[in-house]
Amino acid sequence: MAGDFEGDYYAQVSDESRAEGLKWKERILDSMRRIEACHQIDAETLQGKCVLCFLKISLPIIAAISLEDFHRGVYSGIAGLAYMYLKAAKSETLCCKDDRQVAKFLEKGLEFLTPPLVYFYDYPMKHRCQDDIVAFIPGAMSVHVLHVAVLKNLKQRLALRDALCPVKNAWLGLCVPDFLPCGSDGYFCGRAGYLSALRWLEFELGTNPLEWGKLSVVLTLLLERGRDYAVRTRSPSPLMYCYDRVEYLGPCHGLSTILMTFLMYPDWLRSTAYAERDVKQSVDYILSLQSANGNFPSSANLPGTGCLRTNDPETLRWCQGAPGMVHLMAAAFRLWGDAEYLESCRKCADVTWELGLTEKGPGLCHGIAGNGYVFLVLYRLTGEKNYLRKAAAFAEFLYTEEIAKAAESTSQLGLFEGLAGAVCFLIDFIEPDTAEFPFFTVFSSSAGNQLSGKAEPLA
Ligand SMILES: [Zn+2]
Repeated sequence: MAGDFEGDYYAQVSDESRAEGLKWKERILDSMRRIEACHQIDAETLQGKCVLCFLKISLPIIAAISLEDFHRGVYSGIAGLAYMYLKAAKSETLCCKDDRQVAKFLEKGLEFLTPPLVYFYDYPMKHRCQDDIVAFIPGAMSVHVLHVAVLKNLKQRLALRDALCPVKNAWLGLCVPDFLPCGSDGYFCGRAGYLSALRWLEFELGTNPLEWGKLSVVLTLLLERGRDYAVRTRSPSPLMYCYDRVEYLGPCHGLSTILMTFLMYPDWLRSTAYAERDVKQSVDYILSLQSANGNFPSSANLPGTGCLRTNDPETLRWCQGAPGMVHLMAAAFRLWGDAEYLESCRKCADVTWELGLTEKGPGLCHGIAGNGYVFLVLYRLTGEKNYLRKAAAFAEFLYTEEIAKAAESTSQLGLFEGLAGAVCFLIDFIEPDTAEFPFFTVFSSSAGNQLSGKAEPLA
């Protein structure tokens, strides 16, 4: 059934690439057959479509990478492909414990990191702005931590030591309270992003690259900034932050991923006076904003107006609403075990199932893959097979004509906007017991609460 599209892609590539692509195809078809056997998903159409997506990415479609095209960080840039290849290298289904295949994927990842690394190392200092240097997802930090992780997996110890320098050196800049004029605390560009990047890297390296004392300084500063702002603005939440004069709640610049950052450091949280109390009450504040249909508003107050910004009740994306919030609620359930957090996650999944088939493209930020991750989170929390079926439906939707058009029109290969993120979702879909939204560490940060230790196959 993959025959329809094979010709289009294979016509453009060399014999060697074609052979490599066919090998991929066989592996993915095989894994999809096994999923079909285990989970009784209607995978007949899904198989071919997963293959299409993998082929589209894995074949050398970027013959010449121009420095103008790399778009800096992983958000929409080619560095996102490095994350995808790192994930592929860790996939048992795709590598079948073949060390040469693992190395091939890692080398490919390194290739896509080179142009942004050259830019971030060599571009004249005067042309850099501070947010380029420390920004995580759209900036240099995502490239640097990926570089370290890929080198670690390639066992290049010497190069790894050098690659760690820009990650460690960024610390001092992060200690300046207002190093960015628009807001210095958020996930995409600020302190929460840096701390999350370090935590993710900790699981790659087996140790956090930053000393505990230095980590603690940034975590404490992040906490105090939220307390100060909340007191000044009389916020109903004990912690609140502002980016570009808006109190965002969503993951890009808002409260949810800042709170999640604290939850990723449970030892610090429990050893710091009143930190756990304030963080938990702030999570509960967000929980109180979940609407009856399960969605969340995109921001709290517009400072000075006291207005609550609301979403269009039918707008659901990772960057706005329930598909982004589910990760925070899952982290809260893992840490504290309160049933209300799990209930909130279930509501996120319900509303995403009802309204989440967005036509905004395949990506993570505001596309199908980002919404599809909601069901993989629920599957990991509960082991309930129904959620995997829903994830399968979203994976299938990746291949509708509308999505294909959106993907073509943006021509993006990035992790958050583009196909790299969609491929990560598909890899997680075929290996759902280890699924985790890219760069998040909800399931690795603590042993945690969940209903079933290991999900069971569909009956
Ligand atoms: Zn978005």
